[in-house]
Amino acid sequence: MITIFCDLDGCLIEHQYSYHDDMVLLPGTVEKIVEWNRAGYNLIITTGRRESAREITAKKLSAVGIVYDQLVMGIGGHTRVLINDLKPPHPKLPTARAINLVRNEGIGRLEL
Ligand SMILES: [Mg+2]
Repeated sequence: MITIFCDLDGCLIEHQYSYHDDMVLLPGTVEKIVEWNRAGYNLIITTGRRESAREITAKKLSAVGIVYDQLVMGIGGHTRVLINDLKPPHPKLPTARAINLVRNEGIGRLEL
């Protein structure tokens, strides 16, 4: 089972500076999320948007067809580090990875 923590602005939708603008999907976003969902992956959307913008963000995500398991808000907008422990019986199998995307490139061509 894979759990994906994916940033919102600049990764799933065009980077926005105002929470009130309509979201513009990046190419391949919905298709890739459907693919991940069919594979049984969990999708946790992360964003530096403030917690007070949860309702409007969730509403706009729904309007553009982005479905997810959790929306984690109010986290730092710069470097994010994922830490996980190695699991027996495969103590050499990595349990944490990271992918840096060019802003607004989208997830359409990502292979995990
Ligand atoms: Mg971003």
